Amino acid sequence: MSDATAEPSLGRPSLQESKREARTTPRKIWNYQPAPPVTLAPFYDWPPHPIAVVKHVLKTWNPLSERFVSLLVAVLIWCGFSPSLERTAELQLDWIMEIWLRNFLLVLTVAGGLHLYLHTFNRQGNDLRYDARDFARKSKIFHFGNQVWDNMFWTLTTGVFFWTAWEVAMMWAYANGVAPYMTFESNPVWFVVLILLIPYWAGFYFYWMHRTIHWRPLYKYVHSWHHKNVVTGPWSGLAMHPVEHLLLFGDTLLYFVVASHPIHVIFNFMFHGIIAPTSHAGFDAVRLTKRQSFHLGDFFHQLHHRFIDCNYGTVETPWDRWFGTFHDGTPEGDRYINEMRRRAHDKRAKASGGSRTR
Ligand SMILES: [Zn+2]
Ligand SMILES: [Zn+2]
Repeated sequence: MSDATAEPSLGRPSLQESKREARTTPRKIWNYQPAPPVTLAPFYDWPPHPIAVVKHVLKTWNPLSERFVSLLVAVLIWCGFSPSLERTAELQLDWIMEIWLRNFLLVLTVAGGLHLYLHTFNRQGNDLRYDARDFARKSKIFHFGNQVWDNMFWTLTTGVFFWTAWEVAMMWAYANGVAPYMTFESNPVWFVVLILLIPYWAGFYFYWMHRTIHWRPLYKYVHSWHHKNVVTGPWSGLAMHPVEHLLLFGDTLLYFVVASHPIHVIFNFMFHGIIAPTSHAGFDAVRLTKRQSFHLGDFFHQLHHRFIDCNYGTVETPWDRWFGTFHDGTPEGDRYINEMRRRAHDKRAKASGGSRTR
């Protein structure tokens, strides 16, 4: 564990940083990590493990899971905090601002509440915290010189703006017959099946969108903003370049072609509005009692923030394993990813005649 202030370099860690990391291994780079190795969902195992698949699905949908709570929040939002489709047929500032305010308050409550509880008031100390270093202050890397202020600013401005813009487009499209609309009464089976499929659609879209913005020019100008956060907190989940906000919420496009209901769309938004802050909270879980805890963190993605060139998807997407970018959180995984980065660096250096290394 280190108590040094986190001072990440802008963009990818330099080769020197990697070498320094390699020289000093083995060392404890995590204050806490779930028992390694990280395992992927059993969907793509060969031979198939149907019982493991059923267990995984039941676990991800248990009543104390983020997924289930997010669905409840989506239903609550539609029933009590959304304009009717009669109103959304015409673009009017009043209902647009209602959606904006609700999204603003939701992310303020989730990210702000977790930040206050876990980081400001330190209610569980470093218990279950992945990386115990402080957030960066007086840093040239972050806007306003402060990681938390930077993260809050981009979340609450362009983050909420693009979230609202996508939602407004969708509600207008339903009301005007541009997007195919259905209800539970008209097709109960598809209504439920689509709810069950949304997490996998969100993961599918996230992998390919995220992998695309790791293409070096896009990484340099866009995605590196999110990767300033090596030590992450709840406000880091939606702290990113506005172009990334535009793309992140683009998984909404599915509902312009597939029959759905606003509850589906709002549930899909919760993967960004709620699960992005919780998965970046920096803690594996919030302790409720000595034995009970509410799972929050995503160590798979925490490894991505630390090692950059691995774990682009989620534990439910297969491509990191298939394309050789899966880091399982073990020391062997550290070495494998560092070696892969070294080879990629050497290749680039060779291609540029050795004059440029980045
Ligand atoms: Zn990334
Ligand atoms: Zn992230």
